[in-house]
Amino acid sequence: MDFISTRGGDAVGIDVALVAGLAPDGGLYIPRTIPAATLTHPGPTLADTAQQLLAPYFAGSRLRQELPRICRSAFDFPAPLRELAGEGDHLLELFHGPTAAFKDYAARFLAQCLAGLREDDGQPPTTILVATSGDTGAAVGAAFHNRPGFRVAILYPDGRVSPRQAHGLACFGGNVRCFRVEGSFDDCQAIVKQVLGDAALRARLPLGSANSISLGRLLPQMAYYAHTALAYRQQHGQALNFIVPTGNLGNALACWLARRMGLPIGEIVLGCNANDVLPRFFAGGDYAPSAGVATLANAMDVGAPSNFERLRALHADDGQVRASMRAIGVDDATIGGTIASAPTRHGVVPCPHTAVGLHVLETLRAQGDRRPWAVVATAHAAKFDTVVEPRVGHTVVPPPGLARWLSRPAHAEAMPADASWLREQLMNWDETRGDMPSRHETGAFRCV
Ligand SMILES: *Cc1c(COP(=O)(O)O)cnc(C)c1O
Repeated sequence: MDFISTRGGDAVGIDVALVAGLAPDGGLYIPRTIPAATLTHPGPTLADTAQQLLAPYFAGSRLRQELPRICRSAFDFPAPLRELAGEGDHLLELFHGPTAAFKDYAARFLAQCLAGLREDDGQPPTTILVATSGDTGAAVGAAFHNRPGFRVAILYPDGRVSPRQAHGLACFGGNVRCFRVEGSFDDCQAIVKQVLGDAALRARLPLGSANSISLGRLLPQMAYYAHTALAYRQQHGQALNFIVPTGNLGNALACWLARRMGLPIGEIVLGCNANDVLPRFFAGGDYAPSAGVATLANAMDVGAPSNFERLRALHADDGQVRASMRAIGVDDATIGGTIASAPTRHGVVPCPHTAVGLHVLETLRAQGDRRPWAVVATAHAAKFDTVVEPRVGHTVVPPPGLARWLSRPAHAEAMPADASWLREQLMNWDETRGDMPSRHETGAFRCV
């Protein structure tokens, strides 16, 4: 199957697109044609659905024979659809993976693919660079931790992620090093881009990226939408509609792609925070990206959603794009209020991102919408304890997978916002630097 850049250029196969991350012209890879799904019923497991759904994209790939194994290993935790208190209201829980956010699925899938494509010819390990505002770094760190042939450098903006998120980024050790950068998330992203674009360095050291624009993260995210929508139609005879908390537009674009493949998905509504570039556009305004502003739903603090370029390239014009989905913005006061009222109103304790989705659902119901909806729960509330606990008035216990990581000691290395400093570290990577200091030095995180 052929993939092309959103900015034109020659077609490549999926293996090239997976390893490259970004197309050489700076564009994002998209499938040249979107295959029709052959699935009419959900597979016995999420992994089976994923494998059938993704098979056409891997036609001609070196990974084609391995796809079943890759899917079994990436999709080995469930994505349950939970009924909420209101009639037709559902929550699609995507937080049952090791780092308790939906990014675990795609990070694990990408890690399996890159491991399968790596030529073991005595090359030094591939270093995966990842800039993160919180969840991506943890999911990628966990997916590559102790994986032979790979190293990971996680960069996050010092002081701008929650304490529990910071611990989750710095708790790996071994082949994963964590850098707390004196700067913003945009600085981290700029440093990663600069280093990845350094041809001289790449000639000496294999580098890879695992950010949200990688095709290897976009495609697998279709699987849980396909599985859920097929199971819902089998049971209820109708399409399920989705509300997707949105930042970079990766998760929601996967939902749209699954619908384009013919899966029984109804309407798609994006839930956004105070970064309202998408709500403005979908309401008929220009697409006007801006610097991101900080909100309670920090994984969605994106002023220029990178996957918007893909959404545009997959439609003939902006009128068509606007007809494909809707977007609703939710301010911080409303997010806080929704977290506080959700236990009584919906019977759940949501993370701030999921609360955005719940508020969108409440808005649709207030407008008289009676259709069945699933709000996508993108992370577990325990990851955002400092936001959630004061509003619900009790502690939120981390799920076992997350608790296991949090019980490890953490160690992040201070780093200036300077690409040449990182270059130096990569050239002189010292495996022991990522090793954990003894437990009493930093103190293990206590789950209270
Ligand atoms: C990454 C993330 C989002 C946003 O997802 P996109 O694919 O960037 O739109 C929402 N919620 C949580 C918890 C996240 O980690």
